[in-house]
Amino acid sequence: MEFLLQSRNILYVIAAILFILGIKGMTHPRTAVRGNMLGFAGMTLAIVVTIIDWGAISPAWYWWVAGIVVGSLVGFIAAKVVQMTEMPEMVALFNGSGGLASMLVAGAYFHKLTNDAADASLLERVAGKGLDAGMSAIDMAVYAEGGTPLQTYIATAVSGIIGAITFTGSVLAFLKLREWVSGRPMTHPMLKVANATSILTAIAFGVVLVVNPEATWAFWALAAAALVCGVFAVMPIGGADMPVVISLLNSYSGLAACATGFVINNTVLITAGSLVGAAGLILTKIMCVAMNRSLTNVLFGVMAEVEEGPSADEVYKGKVKATSPEEVAMILEGAQRVCVVPGYGMAVSQSQHIVRDLANELEERGCQVTYGIHPVAGRMPGHMNVLLAEADVDYEKLHEMDDVNRYIEQVDVCIVLGANDVVNPDARTNPQSAIAGMPIIDVDKAHTVIVVKRSLSPGFAGIPNPLFAMDNALMMFGDGKKAITELLESLKAG
Ligand code: NDP
Repeated sequence: MEFLLQSRNILYVIAAILFILGIKGMTHPRTAVRGNMLGFAGMTLAIVVTIIDWGAISPAWYWWVAGIVVGSLVGFIAAKVVQMTEMPEMVALFNGSGGLASMLVAGAYFHKLTNDAADASLLERVAGKGLDAGMSAIDMAVYAEGGTPLQTYIATAVSGIIGAITFTGSVLAFLKLREWVSGRPMTHPMLKVANATSILTAIAFGVVLVVNPEATWAFWALAAAALVCGVFAVMPIGGADMPVVISLLNSYSGLAACATGFVINNTVLITAGSLVGAAGLILTKIMCVAMNRSLTNVLFGVMAEVEEGPSADEVYKGKVKATSPEEVAMILEGAQRVCVVPGYGMAVSQSQHIVRDLANELEERGCQVTYGIHPVAGRMPGHMNVLLAEADVDYEKLHEMDDVNRYIEQVDVCIVLGANDVVNPDARTNPQSAIAGMPIIDVDKAHTVIVVKRSLSPGFAGIPNPLFAMDNALMMFGDGKKAITELLESLKAG
């Protein structure tokens, strides 16, 4: 125990190294499980050292034991019951919890610091007992040097503001994604003013706190203003931008944790918080690029000026050709090169296993099968990769959008499985389209395109897809899993 306390910073550095190795491992499906385990090991080490460190000076041990038990239970149940398609909602809730926790820990510690500083007899008592090795460095500063460093108060204010914005912003994002409140961007001319007023108020209370730390009420006042700001900040964001804002809130939750790390002088919290903050920002940037949106436009709910496009009837009427599994099986029998482009519908219908069986069958017949993965197919980054990895599809067969577009013209049959927006040629050809400029997989350039979906309903962007009416496209209507199962049966029977 004594050894653990003496060497806590070394152990924290080891935990941080494990986090970094864990994130590195998660950059490739083959090493992802190992990466996850390394992250888990790092977090366990960080928790154990923190408990011993803080447990030694905290008589109310039952609180943190209760916290760990409840938190572990919630995490375990969520991991078991939450569907892959509900991941963004779960991440939103977890981000919000992280922000709230950071805010509360910083606030509670700030109160303790100001109380201790006001306790004149504390110094004498501590002097009699000697500095306990389990004391945090900040405690030592208060007890031994009789003052708290200024940066602790600044970090308290930063943590309170970012943590509170993350909390309410994430809760609203969760409600929007669940459609418990309207998922559309809520715009009002006064919204920007309200947003600016709330954040400036929060900052003003932050300045009061730093200048006069005895005014403990300032912390709760800044937190209240920032809670309101979180709601105003997420109100104008909606539709396809929601997952981007969740990624941004993820980054905020990391920054709040990092600031709290400075408040309680906990090295591992500073490191882990910065890692989450940076990773969230990088992911936000990747998503913005893949959707051809600027972060400013996402944050202020600015949509491109688009003219009302043609109606679904105008795009599809008399031009859509329906096909059957039997007919598609016959087409596939003569194909040398097939590319499967999955989308959100594959996730909904859970057809990743059956499409792998179809690919195996085709490969046994000498056909080359690849999968074209669009960076924002599905509802979260990497959604398709996760599903196909779960179905044991060889990672080498998953090709990124740019690679697929290089050889798509040589593909005999492209099977679009539950994808819509990410293969909509309007993005490439129609500057007035709501998704104009978004990079897509050019499936319309393959010799034949088979689109598997239940109807002509639009995808996430809510616009018609001229691909479905093209000469080389055939619609195989039905649930993804059922349709591909029937197709495989027809192929085997043929
Ligand atoms: P889309 O949302 O464009 O389309 C999915 C299609 O799946 C629908 O048209 C639907 O048609 C079909 N579908 C639904 N259920 C089934 C089923 N059981 N069987 C077969 N088909 C089904 O998905 P994409 O993957 O093409 O595009 C993703 C969209 O999400 C993009 O607009 C992207 O910008 C957005 N987005 C993605 C993010 C990400 O990180 N991945 C983040 C933010 C936004 P039907 O109802 O007729 O079956």
